[in-house]
Amino acid sequence: EDIRVYEFAEKINHPISDVIKVLFNLGMMVTKNDFLGKDEIEILAEEFEVEVTTIDPTNAFNYEEEYVEAESEEHLEERPPVITIMGHVDHGKTSLLDAIRNARVAHGEAGGITQHIGAYTVEQRDKKITFIDTPGHAAFSAMRERGAQATDIVIIVVAADDGVKPQTIEAIKHAKASKAPIIVAVNKMDKEGANPDLVKGQMAEHEVSPIDWGGDVEFVPVSAKTGEGIDDLLDNILLTAEVMELTANPEAAAKAVVVESSVEKGRGPVGTVIVQNGTLSVGDNVVCGKAFGRVRSLINDQGQQIKVLGPSETAVVVGLNEVPAAGDIMIAMESDKEAREYAQKRAEYERQKELSASTKTSLDELTALIAEGKLKSLKVILKTDVHGSLEAIRTSLLALRNDEVKVDIISSGVGGITENDVELANSSENSVLLGFNVRPTGAVKALAKQRGVDIRTYTIIYQLLDDITGMLTGMMAPKF
Ligand code: GDP
Repeated sequence: EDIRVYEFAEKINHPISDVIKVLFNLGMMVTKNDFLGKDEIEILAEEFEVEVTTIDPTNAFNYEEEYVEAESEEHLEERPPVITIMGHVDHGKTSLLDAIRNARVAHGEAGGITQHIGAYTVEQRDKKITFIDTPGHAAFSAMRERGAQATDIVIIVVAADDGVKPQTIEAIKHAKASKAPIIVAVNKMDKEGANPDLVKGQMAEHEVSPIDWGGDVEFVPVSAKTGEGIDDLLDNILLTAEVMELTANPEAAAKAVVVESSVEKGRGPVGTVIVQNGTLSVGDNVVCGKAFGRVRSLINDQGQQIKVLGPSETAVVVGLNEVPAAGDIMIAMESDKEAREYAQKRAEYERQKELSASTKTSLDELTALIAEGKLKSLKVILKTDVHGSLEAIRTSLLALRNDEVKVDIISSGVGGITENDVELANSSENSVLLGFNVRPTGAVKALAKQRGVDIRTYTIIYQLLDDITGMLTGMMAPKF
């Protein structure tokens, strides 16, 4: 995926125009620089009888793939789990994150002051756990959209006195989509109306089934207020992580994911990262999305300067030339030159992608274009024999549009072609009268002839669409 029309044509050794034509005939109007979607690629593959393997869209243009060495089994070591907390507003996400952090920050004895950097690491039974400290679904989805599987385990917080709410359900969907195991923290157990069984029942309805009910999800009663159950929750995380056998190779070149970023006074653009593989060190040349730079310093969640950052550990990276986005992947490179080149490639790629997206105009923009007279529309009057075909054809016709031409259905209905239809066509410029499985009577035909109205009748939908596509093409300014 994420291949442009001309790139696809090159790959399959066919003229660009052939590729465009195939899509055009199916009502998809593209130009050579447009990116092809998954559906389009599948259609083309079938049409040209080529095999395509579509890779995860989020992994397109990957210096990672090009650059990061295959994880060698030998050097794999256990790594801490990375956790995201999600749940309905006011159910206690922030409180829980605070309670966990305050209870047992790692390296606490070193005397640092807790910093909110977007992630933090705690210790439980001499094991580390890293929490992403930006609760909510937005960041999580942003990262997933960019293909950054930053989270190993999702904790869904449900207030025991409130039960499952809309954002709880959203959280379940996000978690399931990411395939990360779920642990449910049933919060606010200290409150009088706390009803954990109700929570279990409601969650079970959404296919999050408690272990003690024969399901596979652990429900841990907690109170962010009193600290009750926090220990249990952390133990459960460790147990889940153990089963997952999370590993990384600390000796590899660093690969990290950005969870938060900003511009800081005196530091410039900074990004909080969680290392996914390898070890990130001060002095490393890195590329990070469109940004690049040399790691000037690493500052952990205690505000301490550190020299190296291992797998699943988190710190603020100082030394980038611009602010990276949450979800961007940071990779350590051999040289400054290489990092710069990859960043430039990435920037160019994103620019192209934006261009491509902007040529696929939205409906609102189209309306504006028509108003400005920049977009030509073919007006259609459509009559069909049954409702089903009316809807099908309407939909297909409306899909036949690009940034230059479109179909405008000024009238449609079930039934024969009438004199009214002819008069309407006659009074509308650039119009065509279409009949599907219906024909005009002799009188109507005569009137049409008299008025010079073009009536076209069809019995096969794709022939109708072919003809209209042809008309639209005729209306378009020559492209290549
Ligand atoms: P968020 O919107 O999910 O981040 O929820 P917050 O952490 O901001 O909590 C919302 C409200 O619930 C705040 O007033 C908290 O003090 C309160 N709260 C959170 N956890 C508990 C708890 O365990 N017990 C009680 N009684 N109140 C809680």
